[in-house]
Amino acid sequence: MTQVVTRSGEFEARIGALRERLVAEELAALVVLDHLNIRYLTGFTGSAGVVVVLPEEIVLLSDFRYRTQAREQAAYARFVEVEGHVSDLLAEVLAEADGRVGVENDQLTVPQWERFEPRLRAVEPVLVNGLVSDLRRFKSVDEIRAISEACRLTVALMDRVREIGVVGRSERDVALDLEMWARRNGSDEVPFTYIVAYGSNGAKPHSVAGDAVIGEGGLLVVDIGTTIDGYSSDMTRTFATGDVESECRRAYDVTLEAQEAARACAGPGVPCSEVDRVAREIIEGHGLGELFKHGLGHGVGLDVHEAPTLSQRSEDVLAQGMVVTIEPGVYLEGSCGVRIEDTVVVTAVGIEVLTPYERGFTVVR
Ligand code: ZN
Ligand code: ZN
Repeated sequence: MTQVVTRSGEFEARIGALRERLVAEELAALVVLDHLNIRYLTGFTGSAGVVVVLPEEIVLLSDFRYRTQAREQAAYARFVEVEGHVSDLLAEVLAEADGRVGVENDQLTVPQWERFEPRLRAVEPVLVNGLVSDLRRFKSVDEIRAISEACRLTVALMDRVREIGVVGRSERDVALDLEMWARRNGSDEVPFTYIVAYGSNGAKPHSVAGDAVIGEGGLLVVDIGTTIDGYSSDMTRTFATGDVESECRRAYDVTLEAQEAARACAGPGVPCSEVDRVAREIIEGHGLGELFKHGLGHGVGLDVHEAPTLSQRSEDVLAQGMVVTIEPGVYLEGSCGVRIEDTVVVTAVGIEVLTPYERGFTVVR
C-alpha cells in the first residue's frame, strides 16, 4: 500500500477550501468520482470508491476489499461499505444534503452517468467541472517536497542514458532498462510509458519505445518520469548519437532557445498563454512554427498531466505553488524530433527548476 505523504491538517485545509467553492457555487454537496481527486481529499488510494463532500462530513463509499485501507488512509472520512455498486447507497448518503448536489464531471463516463443518474434523480444533480482539480493546481509544501524528490530521481535516471550505452540497442530495451532502474531506486511506479524515440520516431511527439534500433548520428528523445508518494515528475532531454544533420541541429538550437525564453518569462502573475507565446514566437521567428504542434506544458502533481495547461488557449495565470512543465518541441517529420522539458515550481519571485540537468547539445553513444 502506498504511503500517504499528507499531514492530516492538510486534508482539512483542502476540504475547507472545497467547501468554500461549494458555497460559492450554491451546491449543498459534491459527489467526487475521480480516484486522484478522492486521494487528494481523503488520502484513500483505492481504485474503487466514491466520496461525498457534505457540509458537516466526508463520506467514502467503497466495498469490503477496501475496508481496512479506507480506515487507515482516510481516517476522518466516514466509511460506508457497499455491497453492490457504489451508486446504490448514494441517494441515502445524499439525503442529508439540502439543495443542489454537484457531480464531478471531469472524468465521468457515459456508462457511469447512466448508472448514477437514476439514483440521483431525487437530489437535483448538477454536473460540475474542475472544482477539485482547480484546488490541486496549488501545491503545498509537502506536495512540492514529494515532487522535488521525484524530480531528483528522474535527473539521476536521465544521467543513466549517458552511462548505459544506447547505440545498437532497441528503443524498447533502453526504456525498460531506465524503467527498471527507476523502480529499483524508489519510484512507486512510472507515471507514463517512457518515450525513447530515435530519428524519425522522435518526430512523433507521442511515439513510445518500439523495436527500432538506435543508430549513430541521429537524435534521441528521452521523456521519462518517476513517482514518489503518489507525486509525479516529468522530464525530457534530446541527445545526439553522433554528428547530426544540420536541420536537426538547428531544430535543437531553436528548441533550446525557446525553452530558455519560456523559463525566463515564467513566474507568479504571468498568464500561462503568455509563457506559451514567448516560446512559440521564437520557434515561429526561425520559420519552424508549424513544427511545434503541442502546448508548452502542463501541471504536474498526483497526475502527471493536470491543471494548469500552458497553451495559447489557457486562461490560467501562474501563481506561487504551481508546478508545471516547460516543454517546447520541434518535430521534422521523417527526420528527427527535439523536445526539452523541465518540471518547475513557481516561487514568490520566479520559478525554480526541479529537474536541473545539462541542456546543451550532448552526444551519447
Ligand atoms: Zn514528458
Ligand atoms: Zn510533459
